[in-house]
Parts: sequence; structure tokens; C-alpha cells
Amino acid sequence: MTFEFKDDSEVWLEDIFANHYEEARSRAFSLLAEGHASEDGCIVTKTQDPRKTRFRGRQVPAYRFIYCVLNQRVASYDDVIRHRCNNRRCINPEHLDIGSRADNQNDDRDFAANGVDHSLL
Ligand SMILES: [Zn+2]
Repeated sequence: MTFEFKDDSEVWLEDIFANHYEEARSRAFSLLAEGHASEDGCIVTKTQDPRKTRFRGRQVPAYRFIYCVLNQRVASYDDVIRHRCNNRRCINPEHLDIGSRADNQNDDRDFAANGVDHSLL
């Protein structure tokens, strides 16, 4: 017997994908529609900090919600959603990627050293 531990984040996403997927997709698209496109191709929200959204009893950053729902990706608590454009207010799914906390720290270091080449996004 294998013991598989699922944390709250995974359980929540699995329930959404199994039972509330259309509702979740339409929420993701309405969040994107609220955003504004920047010259860099980012889609940013009007909020000062990363926008949050509440769905099925849980509040999460909008970028995390959008990434997981549109990619049908079950992310655990330890998975971080990375901004390849280094703009934490960006919710453009094409600028988002999943990784570990260590990846995220490397991204920050890389950005500090090299900036962002938006043509590569
Ligand atoms: Zn972006």
C-alpha cells in the first residue's frame, strides 16, 4: 500500500477540476478580462499587490488560480507559481510557470543580474 499525502491546496484543486471546472474557467477568464495589457505583454490587475480571488471557500492569488485552472494543474502547497516576466501583478498565463521555492529564488537572483528579456516570453 502506498501512502499518498495530499495537502489542502491539492484537495481543493482536485475537487474543482472534478466538480466545478466550468465555473472555475469562467472565473479565470473574467479575471483576465479585468486586467490591462501592458507594453511588455503582461496582463496586470489594478490592485497594488497581486490580486486575490475567492473560490469554493479558499482565497488564492489570482495568478495562481489562473495558472492552475487553465493548465488543469494540481499544485501543492509547496509548488509556487513563477512569474517569468518578474511582475508579480501579472496574470498572463503565458508568463506563468510552476516550480519550487528554490526556483523562485533563482528567478529573483537572475532578474537582479540580467533583467527580463520579454521577447523570450
Ligand atoms: Zn507578465
